[in-house]
Amino acid sequence: MNLILLGMPASGKGTQSQLLINKQKFAHISMGDIVRDNINNQTKSGLQAKKYLQEGKLVPDSLIISMIEVYLETHKYKNIIWDGFPRNIAQNTMLNDILAKRNQKVDHIIYLKVKKSLIYKRILGRKICPKCQYTYNTIFNPPKKANICDVEGSKLIFRKDDNLKMIKVRIKEYNAKTKPLVKYYQKQNLLTSINSNQDSKIVFQEICRLLK
Ligand code: AMP
Repeated sequence: MNLILLGMPASGKGTQSQLLINKQKFAHISMGDIVRDNINNQTKSGLQAKKYLQEGKLVPDSLIISMIEVYLETHKYKNIIWDGFPRNIAQNTMLNDILAKRNQKVDHIIYLKVKKSLIYKRILGRKICPKCQYTYNTIFNPPKKANICDVEGSKLIFRKDDNLKMIKVRIKEYNAKTKPLVKYYQKQNLLTSINSNQDSKIVFQEICRLLK
């Protein structure tokens, strides 16, 4: 099964992916994690992508496709949550092509709809584990021990692009490039919209009901 999670930055895509992985046999493909790994490993694509990520802008499609192709060579999953990919209509075509080559298709597209004021609160409280990338929120989803990852025991860190200046750019990028996908999928009757202003556990229950 291929499930796309669509939504603004901090709409809950990462959190819902984590909850789904714990419950069902899903692999989580986070395009943001793949981009960050490429940057950290200083791959050719990563070196070119760095400035876009640092500015809060979307990385060009040509780099995204080469990163995802390399990633998929060594990750042959069947049940996938696609988090942060596709982020525009051209990338949607890329994903359909990738899946068609594997005799697969997109089964569900879930749009996590969230109000802008909540985005700021979520992003500014977000902390991640540098080892396992698990995402916490100091207010909504704190770790058991303050500032320490429940799984790895590592000290949690802020993402470099989780600051007020960059949130504004990322929201602008989302509205200009990713939001048109919502209408695009809606027109094709492919989209299920879920109110992601609610507590993450309630959002998760709604997703599970849909996938039953
Ligand atoms: P995320 O972790 O999903 O918030 O993504 C972090 C950053 O990675 C974004 O702000 C972009 O710079 C880049 N990125 C992630 N996914 C994509 C994508 N599908 N297309 C272009 N850039 C992306």
